[in-house]
Amino acid sequence: MPVLFVGHGSPMNAIEDNVFTQNMRSVGESLPRPTAIVCVSAHWETMGTQVTAMQDPKTIHDFSGFPRELYKVEYPAAGDPALAIETKKMLKSTPLDLDYSWGLDHGTWSVLVHLFPKADIPVIQLSLDRRRSFRAHYELAQELKYLRDKGVLIIGSGNMVHNLRMVAWNKLDVPGFGFDWALEADTTMKALILAGEHERLIDLPTQGRAFQLAIPTPEHYLPLLYAIALQEKGDQVSFFNEQAVGGSLTMTSVKISSTV
Ligand code: ZN
Repeated sequence: MPVLFVGHGSPMNAIEDNVFTQNMRSVGESLPRPTAIVCVSAHWETMGTQVTAMQDPKTIHDFSGFPRELYKVEYPAAGDPALAIETKKMLKSTPLDLDYSWGLDHGTWSVLVHLFPKADIPVIQLSLDRRRSFRAHYELAQELKYLRDKGVLIIGSGNMVHNLRMVAWNKLDVPGFGFDWALEADTTMKALILAGEHERLIDLPTQGRAFQLAIPTPEHYLPLLYAIALQEKGDQVSFFNEQAVGGSLTMTSVKISSTV
């Protein structure tokens, strides 16, 4: 099964028909049908690692100040309690807590409404443990490989370059507008992903000004580490939505797929 990292950007992408959402739809159509989906969203940070284990996860509208229409979006996919329990058993290094109160946050549903509009594949979410280092996240993600082998689609949902404090609000409408540091960080990240330079990607936030600005907080970058940790030698890597938004975000998304 392929692995995805999807740049989700504004929650409004959930209800917009734009170049990003059109590309998400094409990528969704290109995928083999997964048995289930595990999503690692930038918007679920916890103490310790948790996995949603309810039968029917609710759609969480975890944002404020958006149009009413966005609060009406529901993504009625089923959960997969058996898969949550199986994942807990398979993770050797990390205790995984079963969660019955979260659901699907917008990091998950704003991309799934386009990737799998029918919402007919069960979805569980894995949280980001705030206490873990970048390396520890990467290592945890490597243990999820068995899920990929059994036809589960793993999706990291965040943004490679994500600095909300520096958004050029007056340039949101300028397609592809990115600050120099944002474009530099995005270009380097893509090159490192293509070269399989995972060590450098793990250490990236410490590697100079462009990356410090691109990754001011870990949560939108970490889902990328979950995706690349599942990259196998010989996998094909391709990018979609390679575009900056508002100067300080990039929508760059990654598809990793087996060539066999
Ligand atoms: Zn976000």
